[in-house]
This record gives sequence, structure tokens and C-alpha cells, in this order.
Amino acid sequence: MDDDDLFDCIIVGGGIAGLSAAMTLARGGAKFLLAERGEWSGAKNVSGGVLWGTDLNRLVPEYWTEEDGGWERFVNHRRLSLMDPGASFSLDFKSDHFDTPPYTGVTVLRSRFDAWLAGKVDEAIAESPHPDESFLATDVLVERILLDDAGRAVGIQAGGEDFHARCVILAEGVNNLLTRQVGLEKDYVPADHVAVGVKEVIRLGRETVEDRFQLRGRSGLTNEFVGAATDGIDGGGFLYTNLESLSVGLVIGMKALRESGRTPYDLLNQFKAHPAVADMVRGGEVVEYSAKVVSTGDIRGVPKDLTMDGLMIAGEAAHLVLNAGRAIQGMDYAMRTGILSAETALAAVAAGDTSKAGLSGYRDALDASYVMQDMTGFQNAVHLLHSPHMTGALPRMACDFGREFFTVDNRPTRKATAILRDVRKKHIGLLDFLKLGAKAGRSL
Ligand SMILES: Cc1cc2nc3c(=O)[nH]c(=O)nc-3n(C[C@H](O)[C@H](O)[C@H](O)COP(=O)(O)OP(=O)(O)OC[C@H]3O[C@@H](n4cnc5c(N)ncnc54)[C@H](O)[C@@H]3O)c2cc1C
Repeated sequence: MDDDDLFDCIIVGGGIAGLSAAMTLARGGAKFLLAERGEWSGAKNVSGGVLWGTDLNRLVPEYWTEEDGGWERFVNHRRLSLMDPGASFSLDFKSDHFDTPPYTGVTVLRSRFDAWLAGKVDEAIAESPHPDESFLATDVLVERILLDDAGRAVGIQAGGEDFHARCVILAEGVNNLLTRQVGLEKDYVPADHVAVGVKEVIRLGRETVEDRFQLRGRSGLTNEFVGAATDGIDGGGFLYTNLESLSVGLVIGMKALRESGRTPYDLLNQFKAHPAVADMVRGGEVVEYSAKVVSTGDIRGVPKDLTMDGLMIAGEAAHLVLNAGRAIQGMDYAMRTGILSAETALAAVAAGDTSKAGLSGYRDALDASYVMQDMTGFQNAVHLLHSPHMTGALPRMACDFGREFFTVDNRPTRKATAILRDVRKKHIGLLDFLKLGAKAGRSL
């Protein structure tokens, strides 16, 4: 094959992992092709969503100085609410240390954000040594990975045509058919390794969002919910403020959902009708509804091998997502793994070795990064979060406690310890309570 037709790298998927890899390759001077099946980057993407961490500043330095920078609001106010059907008991934290860029969390609407990031990658390509030979190709579905006789990945097939590269980065997201085609993941994904995410974007108008949530300028709030949010079913809810709308949704364990016989749509409507949520979404217009599978953060779902000869997997294609009770982290993991895979590709191409051994630096870099350290370090928290007490007894206890503790009604007031003892007795046995406390202490 003519060397002119050979790419240094082909990226499958133009979501966050793919675009982050593309930006890194463009800056590193590589000749690459990114193939995205959507009409534009972001067309097929769903997220709550808060992009955590500061890697965006690595990709687009000082992105916050752009008036129309693809992001919605920086997060300076966080709330975690434990709900029973009539009440919600919250842990609430607001701090001015969140106010200074680079922000550690920004809300995004993926259709807008991904398209903006793709525009930035296009600019980087234009300034790269290959302005006419590197491409972000949209509306291109990759049908399969091309393997040579030795089983090494040598390119992709899309639209019936073959495209060749020294290496391939698979950044196809959770619906990872190509990862399965090359044998890096088994065909069967146990139902407890995936959840269903449903989300609505509810437009309120900028002024209403800022008045209702006491926001200034581009500041924003995130609110996560457990308990009655999912009617006690394994999972949780979220509400994030965008510039002029809210992202409101649920993430529900697939197995528990199946067993409950409920539908995500029905649960979402019930969540929005809860008194604590109804007041926040009041008067809003639903302008978008979407549903998608999301990994649960169980490390057993992550393929053992993330590389093979000529290929690496990045982002949620490798089920690299963590929800250990503080936040859903999928986009920042996608960003970091996209960057690391592309850095590995650049080094391997320069060294002339894109075999599995030549790409082994990717696994090393991942293991050294916060992504794998947190995923391995917080597995107990992931399992704890899926225990029935977290969506049942605990939120009900908190709300019963709150109902009595915060009520002042001309009757003798009971001490908090007495209230706690009674609500604990009502909802959970002492031994289970002690075990839960010990587990939480160890895992969080
Ligand atoms: C309801 C919900 C809420 C969430 N909230 C958050 C949150 O608040 N914070 C957070 O960090 N994460 C959140 N996540 C998780 C996060 O969205 C994902 O982990 C993240 O988007 C993964 O990025 P990715 O680039 O790996 O995959 P994706 O964003 O899914 O991108 C994959 C891309 O590949 C393309 N593609 C797939 N197959 C092919 C093919 N064969 N050919 C060409 N293109 C292909 C797709 O069209 C897509 O554009 C949420 C997820 C859901 C469902």
C-alpha cells in the first residue's frame, strides 16, 4: 500500500475520548482519521452531565475566556439529597474555592459541547503538519476493524471501503461492538455491570435558572439524589443547572430495573413530581429526552486487556466509569484515557513499534493515573452504593430524623440521639446498621 494512504492512527468514535485523542494527535503532528457515525460530533451523545477535573484546560487552554465556549456553568455548589416519598435530607456544600479557573467541574450539554470541541480539533488540524491529510469524518459508521493474518489490527472498514493505519484507538463508547469484534470483551455483559440512564433537558430561561438556584454569572449547582428518587430501586437521580435549562435524570441499575417491572420513563416522571424536585422544575419546558446505557463502575466489567497488536481502547468502550457516591465520572475518564492513548500512539509510531508490546505504555500510564487508581481504590464504595440499604433504609432514616429534628411545635423537644435511636430501630436492625457504618467508613 502507498504510504500516502497510511494513517498514523485511526480513531473510532468522535465522543469525548475520541476527540481528546484527536486533539492530542493533531498537536503531536500525527496524520490521523477520526470516524464518527453521527451527523456531527455530539449528535449521538447523552450525558447528565458534569465534566469533572481540569483536563479540558489541557486540551483547550483557558477555554473559559470564550464567551460561547461549549460549556454551560462551572460548579460551585454541590448537594446530595437522601429522599423518602415526602421529604429530602441534604448535604449541601458551597465554596468560593470553586470560583477560580481552571474550574474543577463544568456542566455541559453534549450535543453542543462535542460539536464545539470538534471545532477546536479542526483548528488544531489546520495548524498541524497534516492540514489536508488528517480528518474528522462524520456520518461514517465503522463496520469492522481490519485484522491481518496474525490477528493484528491494521485499520477499519467503513462504507464498504478499507482504511489503513499504524494503530487504531477504539473510542466507540459503551455500546462497544467493535471491542467485542476484536475479542477484547466477551459478548455477554452481565446486567449488573450496566445501568440505564434517562435524562430530560428542561428549559426555564436564564433568569429563572439564576433566581431559582441563587446563581451568579456562570456559577452552577449539582444535586444528586438517592432513595425515593428511584422509588427505592438501585440507582439515583441528578439535577444539574445549565445556562438556561436543567438536566434532570435518573441512572437505574439494569438488573434491578428489570426485576421491578417499572419503566425508566415512569420513574423519571415520579422523580420530577417529588415535592423537592417539582419546585425546581416548575414551569419548565422539556426540550430534549434521551436514554442510554451507562457502565456502573464495577471493575469486573473493564476488559482485562486494553491493548492488542495495533489497537487500544479508550473511554467507556472499556467501561471506564466510576460512580462511588461523589459524582458520575465518565466524561473526565474518557478525556484522560483519550489523551493517554494518543500520547502512547505518538510514542509508538515514533519508535516504529505499534505492536502490543509497543503500546504497553498505555496500560502503564493508565495504572499510574487517577482513573485506574480510583477505579481500583473505590470498588467497595461502588458495591456499597448498590446495596439495598442505600436506596431504602438510609434515606428513609435520614428523612424521619429530619422531620422530627427540624420540627418545632410546642411539644417537649427530644435530643437528637434519642431521635436517631428510634429512627434507626424503625428502619434497620442494629447489626446491619453497624455493618453499614463499618463498610462506609472503610470504603469512602
Ligand atoms: C444519563 C447519563 C448521565 C451521565 N452523567 C455523567 C456526568 O454527569 N458526568 C460524567 O462524567 N459522565 C456522565 N455520564 C457518562 C458519560 O456520558 C460517558 O461515560 C462518556 O460520554 C463516555 O465518553 P466516550 O467518549 O467514551 O463515549 P461516547 O461519549 O459514548 O462517544 C462514543 C462515540 O462513538 C461513536 N461511535 C460508536 N460506534 C461507532 C462506530 N462503529 N463508528 C463510528 N462512530 C461510532 C458514537 O456515535 C459516539 O459519538 C452519564 C451517562 C448517562 C447515560
